[in-house]
Amino acid sequence: MCGIIGYCGSKPGVPIVIEALQCLEYRGYDSAGIASLCDGRLLIKKDAGKVGEVIEKHDLISLPGSIVMGHTRWATHGAVTQLNAHPHSDCRNRIAVVHNGIIENSAQLREELAGAGHVFRSETDTEVIAHLLEDEAGNGRSLEQAVLSIAPRLEGSYAFLAASLDDPGKIVGTRRDNPLIVGVDAPDYYISSDALAFSRYTNRVMNLEDNDVVVLAAGAIEFLDKQGNRLSRQVRQLDQVWSESSKGNYQHFMLKEIMEEAQVFDQAADQDGRLFTEIALDILRARQVIITACGTSRYAALVGRYLFSKVGKKFCDVVMASEFGYFADSVDKNTVVVTVSQSGETADVVDGVKAARAADARVISIINRPNSILADLSHHVIHLNCGPEVAVPATKSFLSQLAIFYLLSFSMVNDFDGATARLSALNTAIAGVLDSNKSELITLSHELKDRNDFYYIARGINFAIASEGALKLKEVSYIHAEGMPAGELKHGTLALVEQGTPVVVICPADYTFAETLSNAIEAKSRGAFIIGVSDRESNVYDSWISIPEVDELLYPMIAVVPLHLLAYYLAISRGYDPDRPRNLAKSVTVK
Ligand code: GLU
Repeated sequence: MCGIIGYCGSKPGVPIVIEALQCLEYRGYDSAGIASLCDGRLLIKKDAGKVGEVIEKHDLISLPGSIVMGHTRWATHGAVTQLNAHPHSDCRNRIAVVHNGIIENSAQLREELAGAGHVFRSETDTEVIAHLLEDEAGNGRSLEQAVLSIAPRLEGSYAFLAASLDDPGKIVGTRRDNPLIVGVDAPDYYISSDALAFSRYTNRVMNLEDNDVVVLAAGAIEFLDKQGNRLSRQVRQLDQVWSESSKGNYQHFMLKEIMEEAQVFDQAADQDGRLFTEIALDILRARQVIITACGTSRYAALVGRYLFSKVGKKFCDVVMASEFGYFADSVDKNTVVVTVSQSGETADVVDGVKAARAADARVISIINRPNSILADLSHHVIHLNCGPEVAVPATKSFLSQLAIFYLLSFSMVNDFDGATARLSALNTAIAGVLDSNKSELITLSHELKDRNDFYYIARGINFAIASEGALKLKEVSYIHAEGMPAGELKHGTLALVEQGTPVVVICPADYTFAETLSNAIEAKSRGAFIIGVSDRESNVYDSWISIPEVDELLYPMIAVVPLHLLAYYLAISRGYDPDRPRNLAKSVTVK
């Protein structure tokens, strides 16, 4: 979580860093701040609040300087306050640090440093970095030497940038398990958690590997390994699709990305059949297959589990990534671990993959963002190709993940080409669902905006879609929601249904129709307001969201679309910003 950005070069740096912070806001938006080195002074301005608010309140644009660092925070240690906002500095205000991640041994380091006379101003783990650097820097030592000497003392995962008045004219960065990428346009250099932050200036990038230290100065760049030896790192071209992050004519990224759900199938289905066959064979041969993911990606994995069983006749289990480590004892070289992560940097997933690799398992990752940490750890990588997803709630990437599981399962029965053709034909149906239900969903969002609880039910392959619909609603509208298999409703949750409680019933006209409808009738008899998502009309529904009839295994991809839209419109009706839900951030790079 959180976005960091640094700029060293010939141009005024502050406008560049401010623009970058706006691009990075999806990664964290509790607080924001800037540090600039200018004419022998270290200028820091920061505050709690959204990036736009902090920019305006502190007139950030008026800061001078061409060595500039910025930060958008997603707090892990310390409340959301001005003092805890980054950049942080040392006792003498000569060193500034911006940091993404968690320093796990910060309490112990803080005690040692405080004992040695350092004075802390914030409650953050980050501030220990500034004080450790203070002890190491100066006395003829360069800032990069100081960074190299403190890095082994830091436990946890991090990416941080530092700048110092005692070694001016440069920014030094390093990372472990958190992303950091350099943008090159000599004599200008950029460094950030995400290339989107500087992609309007350059699409030539250099990746940092774990423990690399990079030194940026106007007109010069140097990579060092953890012993301080010079390294050579290649410059590569950023994929054009990753340079674009505008909302276009949409009010929110979430709506734009939902509207793109129709077109992602063509992109997701544009895959290498040989790679899929190879992976399918790995899966079929494996003694056990475990899919590990978090949040929305885990719901895609649950649909994948169903497809693997139904089509490939291969049972697999889905384990939440944050729990995966506790199952690692049964993982061995005959295990295939499939990971699903939009960003490819989700800390819980990365951790699980490391455990799997240590146990000699084969790792296959399904990722959207190119060149991620997870990709480097995997034997095979499947790319979603759905372009940048900026809104915090995942929408279009979920559809792409479903498409990949569909292709993988049919690759197990040697029907990759058939599956590709069936997926490509889906986009018209999805565009139709988006179009035809929009006004009904807007009306519903006004009618239901004051309800406290929603329940989502479905059977079989669509059960995970019920959970995804509920998760999306919670994330953006802050309404309590639960998704469950329709048959489970009567085993407890039905007790919570009252007059008017909305129950969303995914009820395709397939072999689950009659039983799911019975469950809807049971809820309606207790007063529930039934929203039916179905290709068959019924007088049980108080509101009918119509979807087209498709093959039974394709219903999840059709049924989830109006649920994403419903969550969006409910957030809007309740006056919330669905792109930036409270307490959440897009790339969950902390455990
Ligand atoms: N742990 C740091 C803090 O709480 C950085 C969190 C982040 O990655 O935004 O300030």
